[in-house]
Order: sequence, then structure tokens, then C-alpha cells
Amino acid sequence: MSFDSLGLSAELLRAIREQGYSQPTPIQTQAIPVILDGQDILAGAQTGTGKTAGFTLPMLQRLNQPQGPNNRRTIRALVLTPTRELAAQVGDSIKNYSRHLPLKSAVIFGGVSINPQIDKLRKGIDILVATPGRLLDHVSQKTLDLSNVEILVLDEADRMLDMGFIRDIRRVLALLPKQRQNLLFSATFSDEIKQLANSLLKKPVLIEVARRNTASELVSQVIHPVDRRRKRELLSFMIGSQNWHQVLVFTRTKHGASRLAEQLGKDGISAAAIHGNKSQGARTRALADFKQNNVRVLVATDIAARGLDIDQLPHVVNFELPNVPEDYVHRIGRTGRAGNDGEARSLVCVDEHKHLKDIERLLKRDIPRDIVPGYEPDPSIKPEPIQQGRGGKPGNTKPGNRNTTGKSRQRGHPPLQASRNRGNRSRRNAG
Ligand code: AMP
Repeated sequence: MSFDSLGLSAELLRAIREQGYSQPTPIQTQAIPVILDGQDILAGAQTGTGKTAGFTLPMLQRLNQPQGPNNRRTIRALVLTPTRELAAQVGDSIKNYSRHLPLKSAVIFGGVSINPQIDKLRKGIDILVATPGRLLDHVSQKTLDLSNVEILVLDEADRMLDMGFIRDIRRVLALLPKQRQNLLFSATFSDEIKQLANSLLKKPVLIEVARRNTASELVSQVIHPVDRRRKRELLSFMIGSQNWHQVLVFTRTKHGASRLAEQLGKDGISAAAIHGNKSQGARTRALADFKQNNVRVLVATDIAARGLDIDQLPHVVNFELPNVPEDYVHRIGRTGRAGNDGEARSLVCVDEHKHLKDIERLLKRDIPRDIVPGYEPDPSIKPEPIQQGRGGKPGNTKPGNRNTTGKSRQRGHPPLQASRNRGNRSRRNAG
């Protein structure tokens, strides 16, 4: 299958060629003709499948068709994303793919000044990519008009619901014309997503592409049982002794991410944290430093990492298991991309055995255990309750709690901390 047979215009095919893609991914093969045909879709696809081009390319083509006599630029396509990073990435893709078309796009999200966004909107754009909170800020300031939207995309809809954006989404939907095309992308299909899909989509075409991760034999997964107080020390040891670079580490809470990055720094391992409490500038900088190999470790929460386009990471470490088993699959999907081998290691303490069981049930297989010599768990340590972050007990996400900055709703506390600081015992020289 080549891109030529999907019905895309010469300008788009040229942009695709310049991007270096030789053939469409499965989601692109399935979604592009359906979207070009004007139908709604409900697509089960995660980051890394090529979903962004899957909706962007046909959307651009439809928008490039001649309009009526009134040629004034108005927002004709709206893409909603859960996080600022994803909004920025989708915005970049749109710019890339539309480079030979006379279409203009803009990205708006919270955490940065609103005025440059207002200027951009005033000048007129065809495509808007936005996070829900900041979009509604603009609506209340009457700095944008959504009454001409022809195509609505909800990207990573499950994550938007997880983050408590459902009310915001419904408020936005109420501002759109009834007659429009709706494209809903979600990695998972909870009852809440099905409800949203039912109320939003008209005779949607269902598109599901294989999960990269559950079946991925490219990602080797290992559990390292370890005491909760020795996780940091073990992590530094693994990174140092095996001379790992570009390690993505997941923590359950924002505070935990910041503190771990700081502690790794003290161990002589350069690290940056990325989460919703960081300013947009700090997040962008951390990501750039990581991509350019200026820092070895990026510590992230699930929400911050979701949708980040960091390709082919050799190492992903779960410093703490996620509360939601599906997040494990998303996390390990950051490694082993595009035919490269990857490694996903999880440091699991006695408190997390139930989480581990839930993950193994989802994967339908056991993950091999490997106790690192010198880090054997102490069998006398009793499990302690895990402080809940996002995705913990139901009720953590109060529907409709406005979140104008696009920040995650993590509410958790830092993981229990070592009372003795064993980790500073010189791992500095390791590796
Ligand atoms: P996405 O799932 O949209 O986040 O895309 C994941 C990555 O795949 C991005 O880095 C894209 O640039 C890349 N990509 C998208 N479509 C193709 C394609 N047809 N061939 C190769 N790479 C692609």
C-alpha cells in the first residue's frame, strides 16, 4: 500500500514525501479514505501509530476544498488535546503537512501568555489546536468564534476524561455547529468514552489498530523486586553500572518526579522532571535537553509523558507502577519503537503487588522477575497503602473542575521516603 492510492492531493503527497514516509501506517490506511469521505470515526489508537497524520492529512485536504463566496478565514477545524505537549506536537504536524497549502493553523494552551494567542486568532486561522481550559478562556473573552467549525477532532479523548475535562468538552461542543464531522481518538474504551462517542458521533466508522505494546515482542519487560526505600539507589545503580543514556522514568506523582530528578542529580546522574506543575518553558526545555542527550534521565508523570513524541527510547523504567494498568502499556510503549529493541524495567516494592497483578492480568501474562544482587527485598517489610495520584480512587477527578492551565489533576503525595539516605553512598563513580 502506498500513500498515492489513498486519494490525497499532490500537495499533501509532496509534504509526505518530504517528511520521508514511504508508506502509510495501518491507522492511516484505514482512516484517511473514511475521513476524506466525510464520515465520523471512532478510532482506537495510541501515540506512535501515526494517528496524527491519520487525521491531519485528510482534514487538510477537506479544508482545502473551495469555500463559499465569503472567503474570510474562520476556524473550520478544531483539534482538542489533553495536554500542552500533545497540542504542540499536533500543531507541528499540521504545519508540516500543510506546508504546500494555503491554510493557517494555531495552537493555544494554558501556562503561557494569552495575548500572543489573541493576536494570532485575530489575524485569522483555519485550524485551531487547543487544550480545553485555555480554549474556554478565549471563549469567555470572546477572542474566538467556533460557529464555523466543520471538523472536530478529540485526540486522546480517554485522557481528557481522565483529567476531568468532560464538562469543558461539553461546553465546547455546545458552541459548535450541529452539522460537522467528528473524529474521536482514544487508546481505551471505557463506558465514559462510549457515552461520549454515542452523544457525539453520527454513524461512526470504527477503526481499531493493534496495540503496539501488549503484543510487542520488541520490548523486553522485567520486574525488579526491591524495597520501597531502596528504589532510588537501585535506579542510580542500574543507570550508572550499565551506562544507560536516554532513560525515561515514570513516577506516580508530580512531587515524586521532581524529587527523584533532584536526587538523581545528587547521585551524579543528570536528570530533568516533566509534569503539570512545571511552567511550559521548563517542560519544553526539559524535553529538548533530553532529546539532545544533554540530560540522561527524564522523570515524568503519566499525563506529562502521554503523547510525547520521543522516538526509540532504549530504556523505560517504572519507578512506581501506575495506578491504572493501561498506563503501564502506554509507558512501555515509549520504548522499542520502529523495530528497535527496548527495555522496560519496573521497580516493584511490596506495596505494589496488587498493581502488578492487575497489570499482568491486562497483559495476559506474567512479567519475569529479576532480583538484583544486593537489592534483595527484606521479607519482614509489610505493605503500606499507596498514596493515590491520578487515576486512583474514583472521585479523584471531580467532573467539571475547571482546569484552565491544562495541568494534570494529580493529587497524590510523594512516595514514602527513605529515612536513611543510602543512595548517596557513592554511585557517582559507577559507569
Ligand atoms: P503519532 O502516532 O501520530 O504520534 O506518530 C508517531 C510517529 O510516527 C511520529 O514521529 C510521526 O512522524 C511518525 N509517522 C507518522 N506516519 C508515518 C509513516 N507513514 N511512516 C513513518 N513514520 C510515520
